[in-house]
Amino acid sequence: MTQQNCKHYRATAKVSVHRGIDGGPRMANVKIRCADCGEPFEFLGVETEGPTDRPSVDVKAQDLRVPIAVRNEVEPKTTKKKIQ
Ligand SMILES: [Zn+2]
Repeated sequence: MTQQNCKHYRATAKVSVHRGIDGGPRMANVKIRCADCGEPFEFLGVETEGPTDRPSVDVKAQDLRVPIAVRNEVEPKTTKKKIQ
């Protein structure tokens, strides 16, 4: 199936987790492609090449980068901000 006639109904996601560099947060990288033709999906409404303390995408918007932590690693001020 070619990308031109594909309806992109089925998608596959690839998630990888990267250890924080120089004390930075761990990051989850998410990529989604059409399962039939391989066309990459773009993430919408996310800042491009933003700071590592919040979700951002690469310049093509095809690689979502999200900081992650296990519960006891989350700083109190971050938790407080989420609640408010
Ligand atoms: Zn497709």
